Amino acid sequence: MDLKYKRKNVYEEADGKKLEEIYDFAAGYKTFLDNSKTERDASVTAQKLAEENGFKPFSFSEKLKAGDKRYFINRHKNVFLIKVGTEDVSKDGIRIMVAHVDSPRLDLKPNPMYEESGLCYFKTHYYGGIKKYQWTAIPLALHGVVVLRGGKRVEICVGEDEGDPVFYITDLLPHLAAEQSAKPLSKAIEGESLNAVVGGLPEVGEDEDKKDAVKSAVLNLLNKKYGLTEVDLQCSELCFVPAGKARDVGFDSALIAAYGHDDKVCAYPEMKAIFDCDSAHTVIAVFADKEEIGSVGNTGMQSKVISDVIDTIANSFKVNPIEVRYNSKCISADVTAAYDPAYASAFEKRNTTFINCGAAVSKYTGARGKSSTNDASAEFMGWIRDIFEDNGVYWQTGELGAIDIGGGGTVAQFISNLGIDTVDVGVPVLSMHAPYELISKADIYALYQACLAFCK
Ligand code: MN
Ligand code: MN
Repeated sequence: MDLKYKRKNVYEEADGKKLEEIYDFAAGYKTFLDNSKTERDASVTAQKLAEENGFKPFSFSEKLKAGDKRYFINRHKNVFLIKVGTEDVSKDGIRIMVAHVDSPRLDLKPNPMYEESGLCYFKTHYYGGIKKYQWTAIPLALHGVVVLRGGKRVEICVGEDEGDPVFYITDLLPHLAAEQSAKPLSKAIEGESLNAVVGGLPEVGEDEDKKDAVKSAVLNLLNKKYGLTEVDLQCSELCFVPAGKARDVGFDSALIAAYGHDDKVCAYPEMKAIFDCDSAHTVIAVFADKEEIGSVGNTGMQSKVISDVIDTIANSFKVNPIEVRYNSKCISADVTAAYDPAYASAFEKRNTTFINCGAAVSKYTGARGKSSTNDASAEFMGWIRDIFEDNGVYWQTGELGAIDIGGGGTVAQFISNLGIDTVDVGVPVLSMHAPYELISKADIYALYQACLAFCK
């Protein structure tokens, strides 16, 4: 019997067959990720996959029965996948998995367009926690939707196909950056300077007002292609995200660099788990929106919508929804910071998670004296540990960085507010919130195994 705890490395113990499973799973994830850069994109992808897996649209007024598979897309941005089991939900509760599908990015301002010194720009307002300097001098793609007068929705995605143009935010050349380089990192690039170049070709015409000729030409292009005028941008949700696809990292392709691992690296395994599990429990998988700005609004996890879904299930079986919630269990599936030897002082090595060492279980997150966190009970930690151990899940535990270095929260606190036992289980990430983040294929596979064990 091992008296000492030792963290295990998934790859060290993986044989050829296991390694193949891990790499195959990662290939599916990369395809999902490339099609799901924003919460809107992820919702479209999820709906398509749900339909392929036999899920049907959900209605708040329907009577669900065992065996039913439903999907509910809340306002294009927030997904609920529901699989009704044979167990009595008033006693057994619901197995809930929640991951978020919004990621840090640059949203367009309501009046984004202007011309300056012969170039046309879009002004942006950053969404979520970013290091602003990381978003200059990289290729950007534009994703989102514009609603025209009369209500017609126009979807826009430019910069992802090989032949597409991309967009670009400039930085100052090092030759002239002595003053900029002396500033603290957080001040070197200001939010108001994150303006993306979107055009440079002036309109030429005899009667044309020469002022803002590039902006006029860009508006002409937008009008021809999408039927929109400048004022329509006030009724849009458009954002710049890093252009390009997820890429394998390392000679051995053990890792993946991509935009938006936080938190699609957890959304994909929980979705796959609800598709693949054969369970007597009722299971829900949620793709949440607005996590990066506090889980606010009617598509964020602070809203009542999840409770409404649970109530609908309870009402279907004429049982008390309070009992259903009280007996439910939740995995808040979100990423955590993996130990990074280049920035060792930000971590406490005995209590951090390591890349390649499996699903990351965080009893609590938060900041300072555990402020703003769910703190999973010893009993629930014990329950989840048994489930993972019984099913051979590789898992580890750790905190998000050293004490008083910073911190962060997840949706766990909002789920547990409903009376539901909740614990954070996710994937360790390097360079979290950077335009390209880094994860291990072993860890996303371990989270999939963890979600399968939780649903079982
Ligand atoms: Mn996250
Ligand atoms: Mn985040």
